[in-house]
Amino acid sequence: MDLYEYQAKDLFAAHGVPVLPGKTVETADDAAAAAAELGTAVVVKAQVKTGGRGKAGGVKLAENADEAREKAEAILGLDIKGHTVHRVLVTEASDIAEEYYFSFLLDRSNRTFLAMASAEGGMEIEQLAVERPEALARVPVDAIAGVDRAKAADIVAQAKIPAAVADQAADVIVKLWETFVAEDATLVEVNPLVRDPQDKVIALDGKVTLDENAAFRQPAHAALVDERTEDPLEAKAKAKDLNYVKLDGEVGIIGNGAGLVMSTLDVVAYAGEKHGGVKPANFLDIGGGASAEVMAAGLDVILGDPAVKSVFVNVFGGITACGAVATGIVEALKILGDSASKPLVVRLDGNNVVEGRRILDEANHPLVTQVDTMDNAADKAAELAAAGA
Ligand code: GDP
Ligand code: MN
Repeated sequence: MDLYEYQAKDLFAAHGVPVLPGKTVETADDAAAAAAELGTAVVVKAQVKTGGRGKAGGVKLAENADEAREKAEAILGLDIKGHTVHRVLVTEASDIAEEYYFSFLLDRSNRTFLAMASAEGGMEIEQLAVERPEALARVPVDAIAGVDRAKAADIVAQAKIPAAVADQAADVIVKLWETFVAEDATLVEVNPLVRDPQDKVIALDGKVTLDENAAFRQPAHAALVDERTEDPLEAKAKAKDLNYVKLDGEVGIIGNGAGLVMSTLDVVAYAGEKHGGVKPANFLDIGGGASAEVMAAGLDVILGDPAVKSVFVNVFGGITACGAVATGIVEALKILGDSASKPLVVRLDGNNVVEGRRILDEANHPLVTQVDTMDNAADKAAELAAAGA
């Protein structure tokens, strides 16, 4: 789960990372009041879960409360890369002497954590990485050893952060590591980490991604969820306890077992290349004991996705035999009635497959096509999606 800047900076503050005081508001009048309360020049900042807000006009300086009201009026309601601004952070403005870049992230391909740091922050880091890769230090961090003062000093040196603020920067990095570990984050990014004219180091921006797999031991994180920005299909699936991830293709996928579903995505993407490039629309694992209710809930979520043009149900009967799964599909289609309106390709195999196929044959539902192998079923589902697109 990605956090808003204000949430990220609240976590930073809780772990001792220096940030400036501020308040998050939803109206221009409240922005003016917040600025008056701070009693300083402020920055009014769009709170949306995307970067590049500055360039998009979502970050503006205001000298006083009236100006803060004006800037908030201009920013609230703005569309930034498809994200509507509902809230702004009004925060004390800082003078900036230098801008640095810092992040900790999970480096999956190298199976480690990684610190990235540069004395040349502020600009987009992707651009820096391409144009001046030598200016971006990449320092692997061992998960067990972590980041102590010495390690942080090494990162600071490799990033070529000036000596005058090196100690402070190292302190901040140790605290950002504490944040990363204590909050079960997979990303903590500060861009810019600034040096102000008094040589104070401050996190002016913050981006944090939390690992949702750790939610069970992070009860406080539930309060950080913003229903407004959740994908409505993912929210619906979550409410039904389904293991669903929205993707951007046209072939809805249901399978039993995460491994089978993962390989189904691959097979459909491959088959889709022959049919105009259609792709899987989602990941959905209905697990081992797929009852009719679970099948209906899964189909309901997938059919509710307007991008879906066909559905591939790929089930390998194990503990739950194919007969029960086939009954589940037939019952699910009854439960859904007219809201089931897209073609279903069903491939059953494994335990009691003969019975399962017979049940589907007998039901003879006009939307259902049975195909015996996974490859052929993927091809059929892709073909139907391409025809329906
Ligand atoms: P982003 O564009 O979404 O990454 O938003 P940032 O929070 O990083 O703000 C964009 C830019 O606005 C920063 O790189 C700074 O140059 C500038 N900025 C943000 N806060 C302040 C501030 O307090 N004072 C000054 N002078 N500039 C700021
Ligand atoms: Mn930034």
